[in-house]
Amino acid sequence: MKKLLPLLFSALCLPALANDVEPLPPPVELDKLVRDNVAALQERAMKDPRAYEIVAGLTTEVGPRLAGTAGDRAGVAWAMARLRELGFKNVRAESVEVPHWERGTLEAEIVAPFPQQLVAVSLGGSIGTPEEGITAPVVMVENLEALSAMKPADVRGRIVFINERMRRERDGSGYGPAVAKRSRGAVEAARLGAVGVVIRTVGTSNNRIAHTGGMRYQDDVRRIPAIAISNPDADLLERQVASGRDVSFRIRSTARYLPNEMSANVIGEIPGRGKKDEIVLLAAHLDSWDLATGAHDDAAGVGIVTAAARLIGDLRRAPERTIRVVLYANEEFGLSGARQYVKENADTLDRHVIAMEADFGAGRVWQFASRVAPERLPLIAAMQEMLAPLGIEWAGNAAYGGADIGPLRDLGVPVLQPGQDGTYYFDVHHNVNDTLDKIDRDDLNQNVAVYATLAYIAAMVDEDFGRLPASR
Ligand SMILES: [Zn+2]
Repeated sequence: MKKLLPLLFSALCLPALANDVEPLPPPVELDKLVRDNVAALQERAMKDPRAYEIVAGLTTEVGPRLAGTAGDRAGVAWAMARLRELGFKNVRAESVEVPHWERGTLEAEIVAPFPQQLVAVSLGGSIGTPEEGITAPVVMVENLEALSAMKPADVRGRIVFINERMRRERDGSGYGPAVAKRSRGAVEAARLGAVGVVIRTVGTSNNRIAHTGGMRYQDDVRRIPAIAISNPDADLLERQVASGRDVSFRIRSTARYLPNEMSANVIGEIPGRGKKDEIVLLAAHLDSWDLATGAHDDAAGVGIVTAAARLIGDLRRAPERTIRVVLYANEEFGLSGARQYVKENADTLDRHVIAMEADFGAGRVWQFASRVAPERLPLIAAMQEMLAPLGIEWAGNAAYGGADIGPLRDLGVPVLQPGQDGTYYFDVHHNVNDTLDKIDRDDLNQNVAVYATLAYIAAMVDEDFGRLPASR
């Protein structure tokens, strides 16, 4: 069964942090118990092997886990078993229906004027081609804006090449502008009559590696195949186009949709004491793309939030509020788990006091943002004070939060957002190189220290974080 994916895509795995940052008000005073336990958590996090063991386990014992595949189901079973072994309570799997797309094989080549095979990947969700492939002249554009300014006569029957390059930025802010061509390129090109779309890969590596990631179609626009070519291959294609000769391109792909499958959000808890019905939610996603073992995206997040919650659970005295770890299904290909969670838990959403997510790799945290009721900023100031020794700067009260907690945020649930260093994240994001060797244990553990600090304080303070106006 072919099914149109929801319009909202998991395009953003990154912080969107404010440039003009309001200074924080004076902090509330935290209890001595809380301060002492935060110090203990931070010290223990830096030596704790569990986050790394989780990343190693998920990447080694499960491997790639794209929604709908056997790997995805193995990931759910693995996470259930691991949370139970680690002593989490109320471990459960909440069923989620997910799409199932299969990459198949891909050939991409310049046929003329100077024939060359290219390194390419199909974008997630792309249809395949007829058996013989498609061969068509290339029209190159700089970006989506330039494409939309084209006349149909200049695009019809052609393969559109979108050449826009992604910027390397510490906060990952190069991703948002670069990813639009991946998610919308096929629709915008097909509107003008194109028969295929080729994008310069959404990634910062100059290695000969292409990055996948979700793309989408639109019901009223013809579906055309969509692929990405590596940065060096994009340079090559650009030079051939610049030669002034007509460039012809061939794509042959067996990508296809299979019937939807069932997956699950995997949940485990560190139960609270006095306010055990109130939830501090820690999120990561269990699925990954199919090209690699998803070490940074998002086994790292699974390791960070699981280890942070476990460290809090190891304290002599349980937290006041319940810490809930949610390992979401299918973030990458339509946010299925995030949508299902708010449906499944609709009657307790008002008891979700705060949510935070780890889905930006394992780089060291250098910024901290929030999105809480303004009158609760003194609580955030107290958190920032406890984070400052870890080298973390305040980044404002306009946090994005993350893709999986987006539906919660949109319903008014406050969010916290540690900003990881994403300088090198987009070298491995969604490509064959997202493997365990790229994870630095000390950086990973600094993340655990930060998430444990924030979750613990959130679970212990008397006040909550207010409520925000729902954004849809
Ligand atoms: Zn991710």
